[in-house]
Amino acid sequence: MRTDASMDNDTSHNLTHASQEALEHLQQQGLRRSLRRVLSTSGAEIALPQRDSVINFSSNDYLGLATSEALKEAMREGVDRFGVGSGASRLVCGNYAPHEDLEAALASYKGAEAALAFTSGYATAVGTIPALVGPGDVVILDKLSHASLIDAAKLSGATIRIFPHNHLGKLERLLAGAREKGGASTRVLVVTESIFSMDGDAAPLAEIIALKEKHGAWLLVDEAHAVGVLGPQGRGLVASLGLEKQVELQMGTLSKAIGVSGGYVATSSAVRDLLINRARSLIYSTAPPPAVAWTAKHAISLLQSAEGEARREKLWANKRLLLSLLGGTFTAQTNALPAAILPIIIGDEEAAVQTSAALLEAGHLIPAIRYPTVSRGAARLRLTLSAIHEAGQIEALVACLRRMVPQLGIATHGA
Ligand SMILES: *Cc1c(COP(=O)(O)O)cnc(C)c1O
Repeated sequence: MRTDASMDNDTSHNLTHASQEALEHLQQQGLRRSLRRVLSTSGAEIALPQRDSVINFSSNDYLGLATSEALKEAMREGVDRFGVGSGASRLVCGNYAPHEDLEAALASYKGAEAALAFTSGYATAVGTIPALVGPGDVVILDKLSHASLIDAAKLSGATIRIFPHNHLGKLERLLAGAREKGGASTRVLVVTESIFSMDGDAAPLAEIIALKEKHGAWLLVDEAHAVGVLGPQGRGLVASLGLEKQVELQMGTLSKAIGVSGGYVATSSAVRDLLINRARSLIYSTAPPPAVAWTAKHAISLLQSAEGEARREKLWANKRLLLSLLGGTFTAQTNALPAAILPIIIGDEEAAVQTSAALLEAGHLIPAIRYPTVSRGAARLRLTLSAIHEAGQIEALVACLRRMVPQLGIATHGA
């Protein structure tokens, strides 16, 4: 066996050693992350290795559809009919009837001419944006846009401009200057979320639309946290404002309130056709299993049914209960948030992690969200509600939060 010192010491080009150093650095900053193993099915109550039963306030399965009997049955049926895999990219031989049927259902649900489904919301963003803009063009994003949107903008090679969160004045100045360098042929794409993933607040969509129209720009709205829960039949914020025709690209995920897996963009037929030709995450990736598309299509129907409506009502009843139990300042400042998401800003990264750990100890799973997901010093507990939470679970949570989060009732949203 070799024990020679030169081998042990010369670690400068050793990947494992370099990784250990990087991890230590993350640890020191309170930013090291690790995976949590869940032993049960997804649901309001889950089992973890350290505790048989914790109440889950961290899922984006806002309506509990991931474990709904109707969708489990649809998935079984889909597997029986189509097997478990698609075998190839959509453009080779992986384009099955359920993919196109899902897209037709999505287009009609979103009030668009057409829709294109991808393997995830992330794949949707990185496929779509670089297919439509490139070097010499300009992408203007809200500062709090999801990483998938930022990565997509970077990947496109377009010039990236960022406006402070929901800041219309700065957006207008960026729009006004967007063609200064490249001239009239420059394509300008504005990107925002409708309901923001880490804050739960809404973008001023009507105003953003007025601005992008005035300046001849296109708009992509990511409805990841709105679709399924907001607006008539859960069609999202764009639809609830009746603005479907003015938004060129309505993007979203099938993996949150819709309960399944995948992503989509609802748009015009011409844009869909262009994306089929150019979106690399669609072209060079195996199509989602047709059984998954089949299940997602059933989920879109479920959202428009009486059961979908009942689940949304239960979600909002839970939100009202949570806010009324929290009471005080906290309620006043967050009441208006039209989302299943309630951020409890802690600030310090390490403090957020410790609070989250203490809550877990007491049986409540609420993750600490830290840089780089949110800005440094804006670490928070990101509490999410679902239609499948029971009142008693929410009451127990609030009792616990009151004991463990000194910030409660003082510091709130918007750090
Ligand atoms: C979760 C999320 C995505 C990514 O969707 P996945 O289906 O999970 O890949 C994109 N945008 C936003 C705003 C999200 O919250």
